[in-house]
Amino acid sequence: MYKKLQSIEKVDVLVIGAGSAGCLAALAAASSKKHRVMLVERYGFPGGTSTQMLDTFYGFFTPGETPKKIVGGLPDAVVNTLDDLGEIFLRPNTYGAGTGVNYNPERLKNVWDNLLLEAGVQLLLHTTLIDVNQKSNGMYECIFWNKSGFWKIEPKRIIDASGDADFCHLSGYKYEVAGELEPAQSMTTTFRMANVDLEAYEKAGGKKALAKIMAATTHPLPRKEGSAHPMNIEKCISTVAVKVAGLRALNVEELTGAEVEGRRQAFVFEKFFRQEVPGYEHSKIIGLSNQIGVRETRRVYGEHRLTKEECMLANIPQDTILLCGAPIEDHRAGNSGEMETIWQYIPQGGVYGVPYGTIVPKDSNTVWVVGRCFSATHDAHASCRSMAQTMAMGHAAGLAAIQSLEKDEAANQLNVQALRESLFQQGSVLEVPDKKAFTGKNDWALNTNQ
Ligand SMILES: Cc1cc2nc3c(=O)[nH]c(=O)nc-3n(C[C@H](O)[C@H](O)[C@H](O)COP(=O)(O)OP(=O)(O)OC[C@H]3O[C@@H](n4cnc5c(N)ncnc54)[C@H](O)[C@@H]3O)c2cc1C
Repeated sequence: MYKKLQSIEKVDVLVIGAGSAGCLAALAAASSKKHRVMLVERYGFPGGTSTQMLDTFYGFFTPGETPKKIVGGLPDAVVNTLDDLGEIFLRPNTYGAGTGVNYNPERLKNVWDNLLLEAGVQLLLHTTLIDVNQKSNGMYECIFWNKSGFWKIEPKRIIDASGDADFCHLSGYKYEVAGELEPAQSMTTTFRMANVDLEAYEKAGGKKALAKIMAATTHPLPRKEGSAHPMNIEKCISTVAVKVAGLRALNVEELTGAEVEGRRQAFVFEKFFRQEVPGYEHSKIIGLSNQIGVRETRRVYGEHRLTKEECMLANIPQDTILLCGAPIEDHRAGNSGEMETIWQYIPQGGVYGVPYGTIVPKDSNTVWVVGRCFSATHDAHASCRSMAQTMAMGHAAGLAAIQSLEKDEAANQLNVQALRESLFQQGSVLEVPDKKAFTGKNDWALNTNQ
């Protein structure tokens, strides 16, 4: 069918999508130094949501008065590198997803590039998965398109980190589409503003004053809450405020509508800030997210499906590959059409373990699925989607793919205790830590936990 194939490549591990989950999967797979690992990304830079639109890693810490650090290992290496460059600060929060690690997203693009290339990952940017052919014995041919033409890649193992589960969709694995059973989470165009006088803003009452101004304003704001927080660049703020609901991100006409609506809303906010909020009089939008932020689309049915009940039980099962303590954070349109965010916390500041089966599509021998398309119900996903968790999923899948190759184990038959041992050796946190347990170079972690 693809008569003009430009290239046919054979690789050991193919990772599709270079978001936080995919980058970590590729780094973990490459950490064995023995296998050819390829990471393919449709845009011109790695990072996915982490660099397309955000600036804060959540999920490393539990929320509450005494945050515990519950993700470690290779995800720490990313933060340590940013820390060495002076590009992070902590945003201590006792509510929401807890303490965040704020970073400069433009620098993070460069950090992802360097970490991947130093690890020996073959990185292909501007390259989109467009088709999959199933061969015998659980193997696949993946067809990509880029400016050089069509590429056929024949991998031994595949990690779908495309966010939308594009590989699983094209190869016939079963999934739930957000919105089918419960309302899908809304979408958000993030924007950054420069020339904000943050001193004047704080003097005038900061966040509390802003809430009052928002409640009273006649500006047609789509939502009267959300985050407008300082960046690690002077006089600049970054927002998660815009909300677009009721449009499907897997329908390109509706996604186009969502992009247009997201940008429209961003400038409604700009006008409001400039006219009504002290300190913002001379500010302007200097950047919109590369694309509208999509919280959920396809969630693959895996060997295990994480549920809200499991999250709320705060249990850590034997086959845990990562921990999560973040509340369910569900952004949706309320009954009156007004945008709202529903929060449900894990009882008593608890932490739950995410089982290995959540990253293995049902009956899969050679494929894993990580990041925002992993196997979870709508509610459980709304808790377990912060970037520390998506990075930890990638870490686990990268090591699982290598173990599967070296020991000839199918993805759904993998020796999970051996995988946990490898994760532990690389610093992953698999049990709720005691505060003194942190050692090593993670000053940013130590500072929070002392
Ligand atoms: C608006 C918004 C705000 C959020 N706020 C926070 C926050 O403040 N902190 C936090 O920790 N988490 C936050 N989250 C959640 C978190 O950012 C995501 O769940 C997480 O980044 C998902 O990572 P991922 O690697 O699974 O997917 P993505 O980051 O979406 O990466 C998927 C990658 O795959 C690529 N791709 C897609 N299809 C193809 C294809 N066919 N071929 C090749 N490449 C492909 C994409 O371009 C992308 O780079 C937020 C999410 C949204 C949408």
